[in-house]
Amino acid sequence: MEKHVSIAIDGPSGAGKSSLARRCAAAFGFLYADTGAIYRTVALAAKRSGVDPKDSEAVSALLPGLEIRMGYNAAGEQRMYLGGEDVSEAIRMPEISLGASDVSAQPAVRQFLLEMQRSLARENSVIMDGRDIGTVVLPDADLKIFLTASAEARAERRLKELRGRNVETDFESVLEDIRYRDRQDTEREIAPLRRAEDAVLLDTTELDFDESFAALSQIVLEKLCMDDGGEPA
Ligand code: C5P
Repeated sequence: MEKHVSIAIDGPSGAGKSSLARRCAAAFGFLYADTGAIYRTVALAAKRSGVDPKDSEAVSALLPGLEIRMGYNAAGEQRMYLGGEDVSEAIRMPEISLGASDVSAQPAVRQFLLEMQRSLARENSVIMDGRDIGTVVLPDADLKIFLTASAEARAERRLKELRGRNVETDFESVLEDIRYRDRQDTEREIAPLRRAEDAVLLDTTELDFDESFAALSQIVLEKLCMDDGGEPA
């Protein structure tokens, strides 16, 4: 069986995981998997069914009827489908971010989505980002990275991104959302956000995007060179 390489990138909301991991995957020829998008799709499904994302019984009852699929378009971009509909844009709204955080704290939801994530890594060389990739989804990943930045730096970046998409919001509410999600993600009982013991820490508070990308690429290159039997770069 062909050996696939898996790279797990975990960290809090807004640390730049998605954009960095996406660019890194393109540079090194890996498939990029954004697992937050899957939780967002469950949150969207709950919203559309009029289900409170915090109501774990009602969310659990929805799961068996959900047809969630992850696919890639011709440009290699990840798309999310809900019952056949492409919901990749709809899942990016701020209220869905909060709902995703709510549904992701529920064991039934995490269990429901686990195999989808693992099978992707069995069948492809992947860079997968999320909260529990190095700790739960791919505990044997070839390389684990914990990507973080201060809450303020993350809020600043998220605000820029939302404004770029013409979403009306302000710094204080973005910071509040980030803090809410940090609390939920780190304090939940199941698969809390934490750095795996063997994860490399990358703090991008003081780095811009290009500097963060350079630092991340360096970590990936060192790992790939070492596995090739070569000296680390
Ligand atoms: O990464 P993103 O912000 O899109 O994730 C949305 C929410 O999904 C996060 O706030 C987090 O609670 C949850 N999540 C998770 N485990 C993952 C990925 C995302 O709990 N592997």
